[in-house]
Amino acid sequence: MLTEINAHCYETRLSGLYAITMPTPFPVGDVFAYLALGKGSAPLTLIDCGVRTDEARAALQAGLAACGVAFRDIERLIITHHHTDHLGFAAEIAAESDAEICAHQLCRPWLEQPEPTRRAFDAYLRPIFRQGGVPEEVIAGIERISAYLGSFVQPARVTRTLAEGDQVELLGKVWQVYHTKGHAGDLLCLYEPESRVLLSSDHLLRDISSNPLLEPPEAPDQPRPQRLLDYLAELQRIAQLDIQVAYPGHGAPVTNVPQLVEGRLAMHAERAERLRALCAEQPRTLYELVQLLFPHLRQPEMFLALSEVLGHLDLLVRDGKAFAEWRDGVAYWQAA
Ligand SMILES: [Zn+2]
Repeated sequence: MLTEINAHCYETRLSGLYAITMPTPFPVGDVFAYLALGKGSAPLTLIDCGVRTDEARAALQAGLAACGVAFRDIERLIITHHHTDHLGFAAEIAAESDAEICAHQLCRPWLEQPEPTRRAFDAYLRPIFRQGGVPEEVIAGIERISAYLGSFVQPARVTRTLAEGDQVELLGKVWQVYHTKGHAGDLLCLYEPESRVLLSSDHLLRDISSNPLLEPPEAPDQPRPQRLLDYLAELQRIAQLDIQVAYPGHGAPVTNVPQLVEGRLAMHAERAERLRALCAEQPRTLYELVQLLFPHLRQPEMFLALSEVLGHLDLLVRDGKAFAEWRDGVAYWQAA
């Protein structure tokens, strides 16, 4: 399904669409970018651009070179979401080319003002973690990792925002933009109904589940986004499309989308039920629940685990199966 051209470049099923693989310094492993060659009025487009390390730059350039493309030739760059392993070379590509830089409007601050945006993100999450009974040294560890992730990002200007319902021309065909929030609030998928190909970014991954991550709301007076609930709804929506193959941000292409989605929904229902059972034993804080569910967690995974467990608590609350009792500013979760 992916035919190797060189160590970093693979041909997809769709003529003119290439998958370029790059290493990341993170536990997730390699990340894909996708190159759509220019065709007719459709500009030569790169979708995502890895994490900014020397190894990834060499991989991206080698992958592009297999198709006769250099950074200066890129006419359009689409960033699928704001995570560090997807927007790495946006600034370098913008500096070397006249590329249009496209992303969802929620991605704009992460690209244009990454450092203040990251600091605001940390500041927003701090009281949520304290309410979850997370110790201060653990919060400090999460913020050190946030700073480390931020150290890879260079500012780049978004020249066109993309939203649900928009269309982009790729490879001479019209692709539909789907705003599939969940893993990230700004995540975009692209779908071409004739070939039934989906560029699924981190919304649909075959071998790992896409953690819906905690994020601030769009405006400060809005409630905390419930990204797991968003994610489950958007998974079901995407499963309605008649997808032949989804090319994801990480790992192998997905050919059995409805079964994969069904499996993910079942897994989340099961995890929520385990959580409910733990809350039925005695009232527990978010941090206690994370420790019980993931006793061997390494520090870089703490933020992912806190995000996921809070997401499952959101699910239990929505279904009337759990509630929080507050003591000294800390939430103790109980089964309803
Ligand atoms: Zn991501």
